[in-house]
Amino acid sequence: MSDLETNLQAVEKLLAPLKAETLPHFINGKRVPGRTGETFEGYTPIDNSVIGSVASGSANEIDTAAKAAEAAFGAWQAISGTERKKLLHKIADAIVDNAESIALVESYDSGQPVRFMSKAAIRGAENFRFFADLAPSARDGQALPAQDHLNYTLRQPIGPVGVITPWNTPFMLSTWKIAPALAAGCTVVHKPAEWSPYSAMMLAEIAHAAGLPDGVLNCVQGLGETAGKSLTEHPAIKAVAFVGESTTGSHIMRQGADTLKRVHFELGGKNPVIVFDDADLDRAVDAVVFMIYSLNGERCTSSSRLLVQESIEDEFNARLVARVAKLKVGHPLDPATEIGPLIHRRHFDKVCSYFDLAVADGARIAAGGNAVEGAGNFVAPTLFTGARNNMRIAQEEIFGPVLTSIPFKDEEDALKIANDIAYGLAGYIWTNDIGRGHRMAKYLDAGMIWVNSENNRHLPSPFGGMKASGIGRDGGDYSFDFYMETKNVCIALGSHNVPKLGKNA
Ligand code: NAD
Repeated sequence: MSDLETNLQAVEKLLAPLKAETLPHFINGKRVPGRTGETFEGYTPIDNSVIGSVASGSANEIDTAAKAAEAAFGAWQAISGTERKKLLHKIADAIVDNAESIALVESYDSGQPVRFMSKAAIRGAENFRFFADLAPSARDGQALPAQDHLNYTLRQPIGPVGVITPWNTPFMLSTWKIAPALAAGCTVVHKPAEWSPYSAMMLAEIAHAAGLPDGVLNCVQGLGETAGKSLTEHPAIKAVAFVGESTTGSHIMRQGADTLKRVHFELGGKNPVIVFDDADLDRAVDAVVFMIYSLNGERCTSSSRLLVQESIEDEFNARLVARVAKLKVGHPLDPATEIGPLIHRRHFDKVCSYFDLAVADGARIAAGGNAVEGAGNFVAPTLFTGARNNMRIAQEEIFGPVLTSIPFKDEEDALKIANDIAYGLAGYIWTNDIGRGHRMAKYLDAGMIWVNSENNRHLPSPFGGMKASGIGRDGGDYSFDFYMETKNVCIALGSHNVPKLGKNA
């Protein structure tokens, strides 16, 4: 049997029980069927067939889940950091034990190639381990002595939080939010994306089986405009960690205004990769190809705008064309596949609409530019060349395996083009001039910059964007800043002068 056949058989077995019933919510340690009876369908992008029906959560289920999270908060935040650390490590162990199943289900549900989803599941476990180890010190404060007073700070978890995640790497991204929230002592209501509902249920059940108390992690399935909206409006929910589109971020800010929600937004990107003619071009080609064509290009940090110096434009683009032609598009459960189908027919139509737009705007299609025939949402990896920065293909987040190549003259020109955009998530710079690397990093409008590297992640480092790409940072202590309140305590040392009013009359 081929690897693909083996994986297909395994995924059929895993999904059989999910197909037999409507995928429920997970609230207060139990599977809870939808109350209204409303459902939506989960599809596989491989052939757009229905995987099964999913309970569509309403304000009612969100209320039950938020109240469960509120009730569980007192006991959960009172557990010592050391205990939380042990428990979160147990969850990490259980994720590792189930990593293959998670990867297969996620790949089938989202269309992301299993070669990347296997790593993403393991990274989910690493997120739990990383924040588990920080749990005992998460509440540590600072001592800030003054002349007559001692100030010190305390940190405490903010309360029940809402986590709303997208469909591009659903499992890994949800752990990136849920693990630090739990480590801080918060309880969670998770609303996963409606286009990729399956792995969220796996996470809730794995965590519960590993010993997480009832109500500490709840999962409500549902649509953004209903379940998602209710979560952002619920008074018991103190903060919302959101990953998704920039326009959805604006909605959430409005929705959360009445209850003064603290928000953390990781939003869209149209990230430049800037290749100077003095760069190591072999390595730059590898990184450029990886950072736009891996994960189907459905990646917030994808380098979707290539800014290439005029002097090497033809050579560099030609090298890219040769590589793009060899990318293996195929069944996501085939370990050899490099590009799978796009998440949903609607997203596929959106991505394909840019092929005509590119030509109408005067760019060239140097590779791809077409859908792959068949029932699935497959598109050929695409390279647009000769683009200008004011074209829609240069300004809008396409979120597919589509790269727009724009020439630039010199450093100043590169910087101007790179920053002339609404987004500011990530930037990649390729040059062997060390001073130029630092200068570009200093002036580029982006929350994360990589010089001579693809996006290499270091979990204590801040992750997040500027401009329309986000508010706030994740990673290490940055995550705890969001999920916790900082309290200042000021104690007089005994002898200072207290102002005396009403003594002169
Ligand atoms: P989306 O904004 O459409 O949906 C994300 C989540 O928000 C889903 O769970 C959805 O149901 C929910 N939602 C939608 N409307 C809502 C509302 N009014 N109130 C509350 N919740 C609502 O995004 P998507 O299409 O699922 O994901 C793709 C986007 O995510 C891209 O823009 C991508 O760049 C971004 N993303 C960003 C990062 C990052 O770290 N910056 C990481 C991954 C993805």
